[in-house]
Amino acid sequence: MNVREEIRFFTFFAFFACGKSAVFVCFNVCPSHGRTPQSAVLSAANIIDAMTQRLDRSDAFLMEFDACVVDSQEVSAGFAVRLDRSTFYPSAGGQPNDTGTLITHERDHTVLDVVEKDGAIWHVVAASATPLPIGSLVHGCIDWQRRFDHMQQHSGQHLLSQAFARRTNFDTIAVHIGAQECTLDLPTPTMSIATLDAVEDDANAIVHENRPLRIYEVDESEISRVPLRSAPKVHGRIRIVEIEGYDWSACGGTHVRSTGQIGLIKLLRTEKRGETTRVTFLCGGRALRDYRAVHRDASEIAASMSIGRPELSHAIARLRDETRTIAKSLATAQLQLVEYETRELLTSAYTLPNGWRIAAVAWDDHDATMLRTTAKRLAGEPGIIALLGSAGTRAQLCFARAHNVALDVAPLLRNALQALGGTKGGGSPDFAQGGGISADRATLQQALNHCAHQIEDQISTAL
Ligand SMILES: [Zn+2]
Repeated sequence: MNVREEIRFFTFFAFFACGKSAVFVCFNVCPSHGRTPQSAVLSAANIIDAMTQRLDRSDAFLMEFDACVVDSQEVSAGFAVRLDRSTFYPSAGGQPNDTGTLITHERDHTVLDVVEKDGAIWHVVAASATPLPIGSLVHGCIDWQRRFDHMQQHSGQHLLSQAFARRTNFDTIAVHIGAQECTLDLPTPTMSIATLDAVEDDANAIVHENRPLRIYEVDESEISRVPLRSAPKVHGRIRIVEIEGYDWSACGGTHVRSTGQIGLIKLLRTEKRGETTRVTFLCGGRALRDYRAVHRDASEIAASMSIGRPELSHAIARLRDETRTIAKSLATAQLQLVEYETRELLTSAYTLPNGWRIAAVAWDDHDATMLRTTAKRLAGEPGIIALLGSAGTRAQLCFARAHNVALDVAPLLRNALQALGGTKGGGSPDFAQGGGISADRATLQQALNHCAHQIEDQISTAL
């Protein structure tokens, strides 16, 4: 029998008229799940006014619970459902909300968001043909994997903030537990690697000590007796989360039972943000997954270079130096090639009746920079028109002409590109470039020859 069937068969919802006020009585008996029979008796007035009983506050490890729907409001995402009791944590204090499911005898409702307002917990569920009616019983289940991850990150943040405070005297001024990474901000523009390593070691040492986390309330008037890391933002009864003998924080979040449950605490990087430093970190399962991915990547890269992982950083530094040297040699060789080709093209350029000379050639392996350099070198010679191209999946054209040639090469290039099926290109009367289309060398040469004929035709017409 699944949970929904249990609710259908073992839940009796009675509504009694009791004088002027109505009384709802909810009985929920689920023997196969070993849950004790529960009842909630709420007057109609209480149903409207009651704050949600926060089960997560007394037991952060409670994954399932039974509750009554006491209010339901239509919202853009569907319905916001208020329960008399809930273990769903709302987004607060830098900790993201829980997600999960509200199960009724008719269907499962996925909880998309959880919001706290004036002490009431609202569970946002998607719109459905069978909304949760007021007075109905639900069985709530939180996504435990998500919750425990948040608990590891949140408890880890408390520990890390205290480690920073003890080692550097900087108090944490902002925290964020993101979907992927967590951050805390410190009021300093710089932080040395040695300090970061020392703080990381300090925090992990407290993890290894497996100190208990204790949660209790202290009256505001007594709060000076608690060595809080930072002043509380609330009044009245103040909830304290203590890492035994190490850190005391005023906090309403959910936490692990002992520092050992936080697991590995790993600082990833720092970022200077004006006068503050943002520290990105991971705890527990997130740190393990990150280490697994980094280790796998590093091992694969090392294997591809036929070296051991410890030699990786030296090998990459060596590769970087070699790449710089090769790039320098390549640039020199390309320049020599440009000089050579320029001379060759000047020799082979054919002369038009008015004295202009056309050099039209397509290559297979010239990048855009080489093409541009060659075109400009050619155009430095009086009377020259350079029509150059480089074939490939992203073929390039580059047209240039000498200062004493009264010809606009930009429309010529646009026409050539259009004939090849491309449109990305343009320039000025003396220099134009473009391409990005796929064309082989023969096709490009044909297009360049066609351009040369066009120029020849223009000159014949003018003469
Ligand atoms: Zn906290």
